[in-house]
This record gives sequence, C-alpha cells and structure tokens, in this order.
Amino acid sequence: MEETPKRLNFLEEIIEKDLAEGKYESILTRFPPEPNGYLHLGHAKSLCINFGLAQKYGGKTNLRYDDTNPVKEDVEYVDAIKEDIKWLGFQWEKECYASDYFDQLYEWAEDLVKRGLAYVDDQTQEEISAGRGTVEKPGVNSPWRDRTPEENLRLLREMKDGKYADGEKVLRAKIDMAHPNMMFRDPILYRIKHASHHRTGDKWCIYPMYDYTHGQCDSIEHITHSICTLEFDVHRPLYDWFIETLGIFPSHQYEFARLNLTYTLMSKRKLLELVQKGFVAGWDDPRMPTLCGVRRRGYTAEALKMFCDRIGVSKRDQLMDIQLLEWCVRQDLNERSNRYMVVQDPLKVTLIGWPEDKVEWFDCPLNPADPEGPSRRVPFTGTLYIEKADFMEDAPAKFFRLRPDGEVRLKYTYIIKCEEVVKDASGQVVELRCSYDPSTKPGGGEWRSVKGTIHWVSAAHARELELRLYDRLFTEPDMGSIPEDRDYKEFLNPTSLVLGRGLCEPALLEDESGIAVQFERSGYFIKDPDSTPSKPVYNKTVSLKDSYKPE
Ligand code: ATP
Ligand code: MG
Repeated sequence: MEETPKRLNFLEEIIEKDLAEGKYESILTRFPPEPNGYLHLGHAKSLCINFGLAQKYGGKTNLRYDDTNPVKEDVEYVDAIKEDIKWLGFQWEKECYASDYFDQLYEWAEDLVKRGLAYVDDQTQEEISAGRGTVEKPGVNSPWRDRTPEENLRLLREMKDGKYADGEKVLRAKIDMAHPNMMFRDPILYRIKHASHHRTGDKWCIYPMYDYTHGQCDSIEHITHSICTLEFDVHRPLYDWFIETLGIFPSHQYEFARLNLTYTLMSKRKLLELVQKGFVAGWDDPRMPTLCGVRRRGYTAEALKMFCDRIGVSKRDQLMDIQLLEWCVRQDLNERSNRYMVVQDPLKVTLIGWPEDKVEWFDCPLNPADPEGPSRRVPFTGTLYIEKADFMEDAPAKFFRLRPDGEVRLKYTYIIKCEEVVKDASGQVVELRCSYDPSTKPGGGEWRSVKGTIHWVSAAHARELELRLYDRLFTEPDMGSIPEDRDYKEFLNPTSLVLGRGLCEPALLEDESGIAVQFERSGYFIKDPDSTPSKPVYNKTVSLKDSYKPE
C-alpha cells in the first residue's frame, strides 16, 4: 500500500511557495534563546521546527543568543543550551549573539535620530506607561518628543557615554502615539543599564530592547524565515517597520502556537524560582520539564522528536496531553532498551530439594523482540525473591500469579508450585516453600505452560538499589488556568518523589547501553549520576503500561 503523503503544515506551505517563486535560493532559520535559564520541552518544539524545516528544505539554522539583558543572563546558561541542542541531535550553522551586533544596532539608532525618527525621552517608566494610553484611548505625546535631531544625538551619545543613571532617560522611536497597534506608540529602543555583560563586559551601559534587536539581528544574518511563538504576532508590524525604515535585508517573521503540556509549567521565571527556593533539586531534577531534567529522567532525544512530530505545528494555542509524550518515551524505549529483573518489594521463596550452593546460569535475551540478539546471564539458586504482590493467599479465580498449591513460571526458568506458606508470629507471610519441576526448564524436555509468569532474583546474587519513583510535579492539569492571585506552588504534588528500594540481578549493574532499561513487568528506569559503587541509584522514567492510546 502506498503511504499517503503527510499534509504540509502552514510553515512548509510558506517555504515551498517562497522557494518555488525564487524569493530565496535557500532558507536560513534561527533558534533565538535568551540565556537566562535552561531549555525546556517548549524549546524542544521550537528547535524541532527550526532545525526540522532547514533540514527538510536543504537550508541551515543559526543559534542566536538573544543576550540583551545582562542582569539576568549567564554563561552557565549559554553552555547548557548548546549541550541540550547537541543532545537533541541538531547542529547549528553559526553561533551568534545579539551582542555581536551592538555596534551596528547603535549606528542604526543614531541614523534614526538624525532622520528625526527617534528621540530621547526624560520621562520615568511610569510616565511613559501612562502616556501610552489603552487600546480604546490614544496615548499622549511626551513633552520631550519635539527635541531637535541635534539635541537628541547629543543626549543619545551622553547616554552611551555613561552620563546618566539607570532609568533617567530612554531612546524611543518617533512613530505615532495614537496608532491602533500599541506597539507603534513610540516604542522604547534603548534603556540605560549600568551592568556588566557576560560578553561585552563594561563596554555598554545602554542596551537595546527586544523589538529593536530581534528583526535587525535576523536581517544582519539574512534569516529568511524567523519563526516565533504566537504572542509575537502583534510585534510583527513593528519588526517589519524597522527593517523597511532601515532599508535592510527583508527577513520575515512567522508565528506558531507555543507548546503547553498538562501538569507542566514551562515559564523559565517560575522554573528558576523552583530551583532557587529548593522545591526541586536543581535545573536537572528529573521532575523538571527542562531538557536536562527529562534527560536525567531517562527520556530520549528520539522520543522527544517523535512527540514534536506528532503534535505538529499549529496556529492555535492548545494544551497537549503529557501522556502523549510518555507514550512516545515508552514506544522508543520498548524498541531499544535492555531488560533486567528487579524485585521492589521482596518475598522470599525457597525451593524444596534444590542442592545448597548450586547455581544455574540462564542466558536471557536483553530484548525479547530480538531473541537471537545479545543476552545477559542470570543466576538461579534455591533461595529467591519474588514480588510480594505476586503471591496471594486467598486469591480470586482471575489471579494468575502464585497462590497456595498453585503453579507459576519463574521467568526464563522453571515452573514452581507453592507447597507451604511460612508466617511470622504476627501472621505476616515471610516465606514460600515451593517445589520446582525440572522438566519445565526452557529448551529441554516438554514445554508445559501455566497461566502466570513472574520475575525473580537470586537472593545470594541480588544487589541493592535505591529507586527514585517520580510522578508529576504538579497536581493541576491546566497550569495555565491558575488565576494570577493564586500561587502556582500550591499545586506542587507532595508525592512527586517517593523513595523505594530494589533488588536486582547482577547484569543490570554492567549495562552499558547509556539509555534507560526496562525493569521487567514494572517500568523503565535509568541510572542516576548520584550512584556510587556501593549504592546504585535508579530513576523511574515511565511506567511500562498505560491505558492511554494516542488518536
Ligand atoms: P519563557 O517564557 O519560558 O522564558 P521564552 O520564550 O522567553 O520562554 P526564549 O529563550 O526567548 O524563551 O525562547 C527561545 C525560543 O523558543 C523562542 O523562539 C520562543 O518562541 C521558543 N519557545 C519558548 N517557549 C516555547 C514553548 N512553550 N513552545 C514553543 N516554543 C517556545
Ligand atoms: Mg524570551
């Protein structure tokens, strides 16, 4: 059957049209993070779109740091961002910084001043805001609006030379204080900030605003398609105005819907607060929606890309179900991850008649989907642990695991039968004494099947693990719906981290796959960097099964 070609998304339609009309020879996109925090899942969507489009159409993508606010930015973030992009498997063409263009941007500012299109305003921030009016009400002109170009030029140079304190003056474009688009009501181009910049040091004490910076940086780099999130659509006319007024390369801005996920917050400001106030262990806490967080949780780059591909690109904001992301993680790990047996809540089983000290080694596939593929060796002895939940004394008919006088197969090995239930003084079941049927050894004798198969570990070989069982960080599905006067931290899930322990087969500790592994019948787990040789630590990535099915 022929595959039906996937429908183009609106960005692909635009690009195909531009290329067909010869508007550009090839496309150049950019990813423009502000280095004021770590990348999160929303950024992954933006990365997949920007790099994905360039790859599809034989173009390239620049990495451009939007570093115009020295107070909040840091090289720690610059480095982490690069690491995360590489982890996703993307390679940028040029590494650029808005601050690379500060000289050019300033030159253009002088140009606007000389042409009577910008002026220095002495009003305070509050006066400027009040003077802008509202959507219904036009703004009022600043009393400083009619300064001559000569005076404005002198004042701008004095601002640049450090003659004024923070907030004392700003440079504004002189457009139209009654413009229906509020963005055009004399937007601020430069503000004074006596702060050291992580790249330009103390060279500047005035810094350009976002709107004055972004489009011009795109233009300088000859970005063809500048793709950003929906809330910037009101900025687009101003983006175009600067480019047209300055007569520079015509980059164009296009907007798509940002990613929102259930039970998840993606504002860098709030994520920073969670880190600083200790609600999580750090930016890479496995509960965080940051790329370093989900990586430590065991999510793979492949799963993230599969997710971004499935949610597609749209022009309408929507809340995506985090279960779809978890489903993608499960899909990817199901194909690739190695399997091991780990018992989390142990119940001792002794085999009647098994010779003391006898160890039998079983070759078990690392992935049952590939039975001929690589295997691990699993030791089997007369004293084992199974999960407490796999035994039930008064079991209902549909219980297919172990019960008194019942049979079950120990995965990869023999069928055993529960002959005796040993209890302690308080009536707790502490041990099962079982017989085993030697003829049921796989590969030998006759194959006899029983309804239930359970996992196990050999007591003498079991190694202890610390398990970190993670759940959603928040209890509210739609974190965006929380009213402004409520604190989002009220919705932190008190059981987002529960500690557990596990007893594992020895081969697990030799695993070198570098990705999460499957604890058979339980879930996917990944070794945490907090592990020590005496206490390996595993993070729960995602459960093995879920009733969720994508549409
Ligand atoms: P935040 O509001 O979390 O601080 P931001 O938009 O300020 O995010 P930037 O570093 O400026 O973060 O973003 C870099 C790029 O990633 C921008 O193009 C932005 O539009 C995009 N981006 C940010 N958040 C999302 C999201 N949730 N979904 C899709 N794209 C996003
Ligand atoms: Mg931003």
